[in-house]
Amino acid sequence: MHRLDQDQRTHDLDRMRAETFDVVVVGGGVTGAGVALDAATRGLSVALVEQRDFAAGTSSRSSKLFHGGVRYLEQLEFSLVTEALHERNLMLSRLCPHLARPVSFLYPLTHRVWERAYVGAGIGLYDILAAFGANPLPHHRHLSKRSIRALVPSLRDDVHVGGIRYWDAQVDDARHTMSVVRTAAHYGAAVASSVRVVGMRRTGQAGHVDGVDVLDVESGEPFTIGARQVVNATGVWTDHIQDMAGGSTLRVRASKGVHLVIPRDRIRSDTGLIFRTPTSVLFVIPWGSHWLVGTTDTDWNLDLAHPAASATDLDYLLTQANQYLSPALTRDDIVGVYAGLRPLLHGESDSTSKLSREHAVRTVVPGLITVAGGKYTTYRVMAADAVDAVVDALGHGPASCTEQIPLVGAVGWEAVRNRRDELSASSGLPAERVEHLLGRFGAETPILVDLVRNDPTLGAPLPGTDDYLGVEIRFAVSHEGALHLDDVLTRRTRLSIESPDRGVSAAPVAARIMGGVLGWDDATTEAEVESYRTRVAAELDSQWATDDRTADARRLGADDVRTRRSL
Ligand SMILES: Cc1cc2nc3c(=O)[nH]c(=O)nc-3n(C[C@H](O)[C@H](O)[C@H](O)COP(=O)(O)OP(=O)(O)OC[C@H]3O[C@@H](n4cnc5c(N)ncnc54)[C@H](O)[C@@H]3O)c2cc1C
Repeated sequence: MHRLDQDQRTHDLDRMRAETFDVVVVGGGVTGAGVALDAATRGLSVALVEQRDFAAGTSSRSSKLFHGGVRYLEQLEFSLVTEALHERNLMLSRLCPHLARPVSFLYPLTHRVWERAYVGAGIGLYDILAAFGANPLPHHRHLSKRSIRALVPSLRDDVHVGGIRYWDAQVDDARHTMSVVRTAAHYGAAVASSVRVVGMRRTGQAGHVDGVDVLDVESGEPFTIGARQVVNATGVWTDHIQDMAGGSTLRVRASKGVHLVIPRDRIRSDTGLIFRTPTSVLFVIPWGSHWLVGTTDTDWNLDLAHPAASATDLDYLLTQANQYLSPALTRDDIVGVYAGLRPLLHGESDSTSKLSREHAVRTVVPGLITVAGGKYTTYRVMAADAVDAVVDALGHGPASCTEQIPLVGAVGWEAVRNRRDELSASSGLPAERVEHLLGRFGAETPILVDLVRNDPTLGAPLPGTDDYLGVEIRFAVSHEGALHLDDVLTRRTRLSIESPDRGVSAAPVAARIMGGVLGWDDATTEAEVESYRTRVAAELDSQWATDDRTADARRLGADDVRTRRSL
């Protein structure tokens, strides 16, 4: 499969300067990546540009669930739920079985009769809707109070009379998005991160968009990419791109969602949990050796690239979780925090949690199509709808085939998994480390194992973590398009939220490994480390602010490593 490295980036930037593409996709989140893959696999010529790192926006900051959304059933959104469950099942069985994992949730009941009947009927319907596709997950189960005591010792005894356990799926969203980008590149898309769209080219009386003006944030070089159609897949930045073209058919509003990352031993449970909150639901999601606890749902009108979590967000989540958990969680239990922005289509309601999760595709002005809204789980459907609009405008092109296209690392991964003992023995990597690599790199795991065979130092865990190995940093640069330290500590690995020091002690080692591949001199290596440290300090500082405005100001005390370069 296609490598995203320095040579590929140079080559693809040359293509972008020289070719006129059938479609230029703006935005390297899961939606834009999905559009690029859909278009490339229909035989269209495609360029994909992302202003920062792939998945640097919302697509690395979600609850990381491939799910139908049980709570949307209450809003009677049956078709939305059915569609999402179909996608969930597709991810688990065909598109990325190495990345997607089953995860169960317990919904505790507080009323013996009516609630069990009401919620039981809802979750039963969820399983029935899932069965319209081949559902690889177990069906829900009703549990007694006694069996819940054994399953979730940390659930307070006085808050439930029993419960219902059901199944969904989870994925590392940033890794998944990057895999979609790589798969698109494999099918011929020219892709580049650190390329920001700064303007639209329009010609003729109708003002048809026929290209985008961009800035290569790494070199500072501006250039233009020719396009027959442009797809705006920029999530919460949708309005900005539309404004560049002087059109505004869709308006997108940002709603902030914060998650806490808590070590696994602080909550004793063999299942995830879902609780009702006054405005929405709270998830407690098993996440490797941690739990994710989230989320909030509040309007956000400040910096879009670095949404900041405030002390108020943290306290809200702890308070909600502690209504159900014992012993209670405290701030000292938090090892990581992240905030993301939901791209919500403007709706009638004032409450962000009630705005539509459905997506929309619109032609903004001739040549510019916006795809917005939706949710992570349905990115493939959103992409297919957007490319249908492209094909309509171009007047040619076949139907979407991405339902049949496995992502990089998926094909043959079971066969590689069956060789795990041999891979472990030949490389000296313990079996559990090979297992860890298989769940992140799938069929590409032997490439990482070979790298360790050639340089055993890469088989060591990075400082401050037991979960990630040096070789993952090496591979992130040689295959996964990582350009900066932040890319590898925040998205290719999750050290920035999973290690108590937020990845600061791993930073110099990771920077040296990156620098070895990218040819960094000492000054560049040190600048990358310093930039990362400053970012972590600003983030920690912002989490003591009680209001969004102060949290935002403190977070912006640290420049983005890419912004700094483009100034
Ligand atoms: C807290 C939270 C939890 C969620 N949990 C779930 C979940 O569990 N399951 C689920 O299905 N969905 C979930 N969602 C929703 C889901 O994460 C989003 O719908 C999805 O990630 C949006 O992806 P996107 O590609 O549209 O936007 P983004 O990921 O934000 O991508 C847009 C990209 O466009 C780039 N861009 C912007 N301007 C420019 C420019 N000028 N030039 C070049 N590039 C540009 C940005 O840098 C960004 O990377 C959650 C959302 C939040 C906030």
